[in-house]
Amino acid sequence: MRSRYCAFREGAVDYLVATHHPASRSPTEHADAARSIAGTEWVNLLVLDTQKGGPGDSEGTVTFAAAFRPKPPRAGEVRQMHERSRFVREAGAWLYVDGEALPDYRPARNDPCWCGSGRKAKRCHG
Ligand SMILES: [Zn+2]
Repeated sequence: MRSRYCAFREGAVDYLVATHHPASRSPTEHADAARSIAGTEWVNLLVLDTQKGGPGDSEGTVTFAAAFRPKPPRAGEVRQMHERSRFVREAGAWLYVDGEALPDYRPARNDPCWCGSGRKAKRCHG
């Protein structure tokens, strides 16, 4: 999952397509990923929970909150993607199957904000 986040951030479209499970890959996957990358600057990743996904597993889920800014950036605008992603392992490679969108993740008031600002959650975003 981290490697897919890095691929989104760095624009590695081929890697994103290759690590998306063929059964849930769209015919326009390559163009969609390229468009998503062109319109987004990823700024932070918080991995909140993982289930299975270990060396002896063939499936796993990762829950994360990723912070991004739309491109071109608008002043101060940072948004969040909070998702529980499902992965399966086939022939040794972890493949993204699908993700369940979740309501925005809210850290506890004194925890670091999800956006990566380094501020406590209570001091960020008003
Ligand atoms: Zn913040």
